[in-house]
Amino acid sequence: MSETNIFGIAAPGDATQASPASSPASSSDATDVTAQVAVRPAEHGAAAVENVVVIGSGPAGYTATIYLARAGLKPVVVAGALTPGGQLVNTTEVENFPGFPDGIMGPDLMEQMQRQAERFGARIVFDDVEAVDLNGDVKTVYCSGKQEFRARAVVVTTGSSYRHLDVPGEIDYGGRGVSFCATCDGFFFRGKPIVVVGGGDSALEEALFLARFGSSVAVVHRRDEFRASKIMVERAVADDKIDFVMDSVVESINGNDSSVESVTLRNVKTGEETVLPANGVFIAIGHEPCTAFLDGQLPLNERGYILVDGASTRTSVPGVFAAGDCVDDTYMQAISAAGMGCRAALDAQRYLDEA
Ligand SMILES: Cc1cc2nc3c(=O)[nH]c(=O)nc-3n(C[C@H](O)[C@H](O)[C@H](O)COP(=O)(O)OP(=O)(O)OC[C@H]3O[C@@H](n4cnc5c(N)ncnc54)[C@H](O)[C@@H]3O)c2cc1C
Repeated sequence: MSETNIFGIAAPGDATQASPASSPASSSDATDVTAQVAVRPAEHGAAAVENVVVIGSGPAGYTATIYLARAGLKPVVVAGALTPGGQLVNTTEVENFPGFPDGIMGPDLMEQMQRQAERFGARIVFDDVEAVDLNGDVKTVYCSGKQEFRARAVVVTTGSSYRHLDVPGEIDYGGRGVSFCATCDGFFFRGKPIVVVGGGDSALEEALFLARFGSSVAVVHRRDEFRASKIMVERAVADDKIDFVMDSVVESINGNDSSVESVTLRNVKTGEETVLPANGVFIAIGHEPCTAFLDGQLPLNERGYILVDGASTRTSVPGVFAAGDCVDDTYMQAISAAGMGCRAALDAQRYLDEA
């Protein structure tokens, strides 16, 4: 049994945690599936060549891993050192992941995905990838812990991270009033005052969505005009529940230790400080894909998201696939990331079969 962290997820540093005990040997289901698939064995020697390395262990990474492992491809997962399990380990209840009618805590959901991946024989390494060499038929993945993996295929699922305000209270009240996702958490603030921070399309989209739930929605923006498209601004202005606090920044998020009660705002032109009641604070100032380690080896869009070929998960580099929030900056949900992880596994499997 591996050590687990406070989220119940195996701890960083538990480098080769998959064990024969968690392999498919005990699962008749897995044995049946793997028996049908011709497995190309890893070449053993100084540096074995794996079939496939999955980078990242969020919903996209673990779903890809479950499919690849059930196909008998013995995937290696480089899960990340700091946040194995991905973004959901930082949240409380997830109410919209199908199959859990009573909701499930984010860390529990990710632990179950991890166990499901291990059950079929995935090998999980709790380390960060710091560089890759994606050229040629055999790719190399370099980890910060100095391990390196060679593989015929690579699936990148490194997600994205939300930009933070970096103000007092933001971290303390994460999951207890501070949120980065209206679709995920808006429901929890029915009849309560809400603040949305940001001035782009996504901030106004979040505000319009949240106006269905909150008693009021105040959009706080640091400039005197929005970056958002004209139509989004018009829609937000037309909504009676939405107010605007322009030229203002959040100085702190305040509460009673268990939940948020207000935000302190500062007008950037006058310097005046005001306190605005709020039980929900939604921060919508953008997100950044975790793709810097690719160092130009995969084509990215202008905001750093990995480009894939149409509805597939194929990148322009043969044998390299990408899925989840590091590709998709539109849907950004656990289930959509998981679905894309499934597609990446099937694309990678087809590539390995044909190569
Ligand atoms: C607070 C919060 C609450 C949310 N609530 C919900 C919700 O209720 N419902 C919902 O559907 N969605 C929710 N979301 C969104 C959801 O979490 C994401 O859409 C989903 O996790 C994306 O999955 P992913 O696998 O693409 O990436 P992530 O979950 O971001 O996982 C990325 C993985 O890549 C790893 N990684 C990153 N860089 C490296 C590297 N260099 N080397 C190795 N590993 C690396 C990370 O450690 C992590 O394991 C929430 C998000 C947040 C932040």
